Amino acid sequence: MTDPIAARQRRRVLVSGASIAGPTIAYWLDRFGFDVKVIEQAGAVRGGGSPIDVRGPAVDVADRMGILPGLKDAHIHAKRITFLRPDGSVAGTIHPEEITGGVEDHDIELPRGDLTELLYGLTRNGSVRYAFNESIAALDDDGAGVTVDFQSGASERYDVVIGADGLHSNTRRLLFGPEVPFSHYLGYCYNGFTMPNFLGLSHESLTYTTPGRYAILSAVKDSPTLHAFLIFASEDLPFPRHQDDASQRRLVAEKFEGIGWEVPKLVEAIQQADDLYFDVVSQIHLDRWSNGRVVLVGDSAFAPSFLSGQGSSLAMIGAYILAGELATRNNPADAFAAYEKLMRPYALANQNLAGDGGDFLLPLTQEKVDMRNKALAGLSSSDARAMPGETSREVHSSLQLPDYMGLRKAAESMW
Ligand SMILES: Cc1cc2nc3c(=O)[nH]c(=O)nc-3n(C[C@H](O)[C@H](O)[C@H](O)COP(=O)(O)OP(=O)(O)OC[C@H]3O[C@@H](n4cnc5c(N)ncnc54)[C@H](O)[C@@H]3O)c2cc1C
Repeated sequence: MTDPIAARQRRRVLVSGASIAGPTIAYWLDRFGFDVKVIEQAGAVRGGGSPIDVRGPAVDVADRMGILPGLKDAHIHAKRITFLRPDGSVAGTIHPEEITGGVEDHDIELPRGDLTELLYGLTRNGSVRYAFNESIAALDDDGAGVTVDFQSGASERYDVVIGADGLHSNTRRLLFGPEVPFSHYLGYCYNGFTMPNFLGLSHESLTYTTPGRYAILSAVKDSPTLHAFLIFASEDLPFPRHQDDASQRRLVAEKFEGIGWEVPKLVEAIQQADDLYFDVVSQIHLDRWSNGRVVLVGDSAFAPSFLSGQGSSLAMIGAYILAGELATRNNPADAFAAYEKLMRPYALANQNLAGDGGDFLLPLTQEKVDMRNKALAGLSSSDARAMPGETSREVHSSLQLPDYMGLRKAAESMW
């Protein structure tokens, strides 16, 4: 039976966002003895999305959570990426790890929805409470705690509030204002969707490149469905903040008008897709990740963009560190400072990887396309160092995960 006094004294934490960072921090805070509630704007945990990577210390976080076997089962074991020229001929084929910097037999690539399902499955039946169709309307931090008004009309008091609500974070907006000064647009617009595997691809991706227009098809194992991406470059933000799906489908059709290979089939498929996910490609850079008793983690604090391939790994690692610091420091301010001290250099180094990835995967000019294709051709001989994977690998593993279990104090006796 729960001790009513201890239960009353447990520190209460609200987490906004139930994707990768949210359930990860909920798991660790729950394990450290905090009373945790997670709210999510959508009606359920949002599955879908293309395969994402769990690398370096994020694999250890998953291991410490006991979900590594599940991740390994879902590992897609991609075997090759083939780069195509504008006429559809093959410019080169490489193993994905040569550009991603993944480490064979350690790092894992799995469908994003499988990861969210594993994280949610781990926390949903424990003492973590989830509330869907919910969002924070207002935050009032008086120094001793935070009063949260919800969109549903409810009002509750918490010791700490954590924003894990992604690139366009609502918590960040309430804490620091509109995202414009923090959002660094990287010059591309991303459209992801699924379509039938009309090319019979297996364990592989095809990347079709013309300067400023890119089509990628990716087969998860032998799935009859392909993950398709139509990405275009645009100097200015290509659409208003709340672009609707129909307008986006029209915009993509315009941008890819007249582009060759199988691209017209992708443009046709995007018109029918019921799982279109689109956004600008951007990063979040903030001078500080917390204010008072409210703190940010994951994409809301340090989104690296898909060009770095590190969004999910950073979200898991940041969540683990923030939870660990909250469990071992004497007050939230000290915990937030320690979290930032440890995580910021690592997050920044990983954000910096996006530049290399962009030049290789999405070259902007014909000259850069030619350079990339030359490097690909050189690979069959000896020029593997031209691949961005070499640098990335060092950066992915450049953080040593602390072990907080031994340092932990009981959450009910702190602060
Ligand atoms: C549906 C979806 C599909 C994605 N597909 C891809 C992909 O194909 N490739 C890729 O590289 N990355 C994709 N991402 C982004 C990727 O998940 C993140 O970059 C990364 O994993 C970091 O995770 P995060 O938990 O910090 O943020 P996110 O994964 O972005 O999660 C943020 C969560 O907060 C929720 N949320 C937003 N606003 C509010 C609010 N006001 N109140 C409560 N909750 C809110 C969102 O619904 C979401 O569940 C996708 C994200 C989503 C949500």
